[in-house]
Amino acid sequence: MTKDFECMQESYAKEVLREKGLKSTTQRLAVVHILHMSEKLLSIGEIHGGVKDMLGNTGLATIYRTLEMFEDLGIVKRLHFPDGGHGYAFSQGEHVHHMVCVDCRGVFDFSECPAENFDYASVEKQGFRVKDHFIQLFGQCGKCVEAA
Ligand SMILES: [Zn+2]
Ligand SMILES: [Zn+2]
Ligand SMILES: [Zn+2]
Repeated sequence: MTKDFECMQESYAKEVLREKGLKSTTQRLAVVHILHMSEKLLSIGEIHGGVKDMLGNTGLATIYRTLEMFEDLGIVKRLHFPDGGHGYAFSQGEHVHHMVCVDCRGVFDFSECPAENFDYASVEKQGFRVKDHFIQLFGQCGKCVEAA
């Protein structure tokens, strides 16, 4: 199948990989392509299926390792499905939070950070030092609200 995909998102991923001395293999770029082309949160099985459609047989373990690596590099965000389990969305490393539609699994982002005005002192009183946060909203997207 076709290997001639090269979008801005692949160029971005290539650059991040190159900076870390990692190879931009066709499989890795195919994962980027599938993720950024999708408007929905994708499961690992769906990503695997997409890579197989593009490149032929590819092991699930390879896809799993690629996604783990991409998560470390900030190329993907691992988000939650409404009914549990994880899905993946493309990321260019910016600080954004995500909203996932419980009906269509559409994934949207917003840049306003709800943790910015959080009262950190109140939890640090318990001796806890905050390092990071994870905030994701669940709801219905505009299209699904209209269709309801
Ligand atoms: Zn692409
Ligand atoms: Zn929706
Ligand atoms: Zn935030």
